Amino acid sequence: MPELPEVETVRRGIEKRIVGLTVESVSIFAPQILKSPITDPLVFSEKLAGMTFVDARRRGKHLIFGLTSGYALYAHLNMRGQFVVALNSDLPQGKYLCALFRFVGGVELRYHDIWRWGELRLLHDSQSEIFGLVPALASMGAEPLSEGFCGAVLQHDARSRYGSPIKTVLLDQSVVAGVGNIYADESLYRSGIAPIRKARTLTDRDWHRLASEIINVLKEAADCGGTLSDNYVDVDGSVGRYQPQVYGRAKENCTNCGTPLVTTRLGGRSTVYCPECQR
Ligand SMILES: [Zn+2]
Repeated sequence: MPELPEVETVRRGIEKRIVGLTVESVSIFAPQILKSPITDPLVFSEKLAGMTFVDARRRGKHLIFGLTSGYALYAHLNMRGQFVVALNSDLPQGKYLCALFRFVGGVELRYHDIWRWGELRLLHDSQSEIFGLVPALASMGAEPLSEGFCGAVLQHDARSRYGSPIKTVLLDQSVVAGVGNIYADESLYRSGIAPIRKARTLTDRDWHRLASEIINVLKEAADCGGTLSDNYVDVDGSVGRYQPQVYGRAKENCTNCGTPLVTTRLGGRSTVYCPECQR
């Protein structure tokens, strides 16, 4: 699943390429991706036509594009959703095309989704409507790239999960927003904290270090356009360039100490760490 850096990369791409453009027409090829309040493709398309994209926001792994007339387009990529910008139909459309937004001037924004688990919602751009329709946003934890995120906030927000391994705590979107399997493993490695450790055993210093490394790794990865994955490209179709140090490197040696990395399962997710560097 695309995590915060990948979704942030998509957000930046749409901000750069789409914000300021006015929708000419919309075609929906997979109606199941349209979720409440407007699930009828015709109504969805008619309403969007003539609206201009005014901003591109992100909260955790969720995208919200502000539109004129007080509306917003909410998007969640889920496992395999991809937004790609094309000019004058210069790219083949692909068989997993679910939605096609054509803008005045010839630019197209295409939403592809091989599993069609992603979501698009056209809704009023108000917190009450958005939270009502997407409860995950209402209960979402701290935004790690926002000002004010620090070890004390992370420690406080994790307090109901102190009995769980720290890795599973980091995957809980109500504790911290946007961190998934890749960046949980990476930030724990860089903090020197074993993913299997119960959250309650972390010291104030550990929480501080962990929060700092979460920020560092997410920023670095976003600046690299995310991590290479079969599931993800940016809006220009480019792959991520971030190089994980432990994620996806099971059976390789730790680049810091040379010890073979260990793989385990936590919260149903494959977890890789160094048994020497992470305690
Ligand atoms: Zn090591």
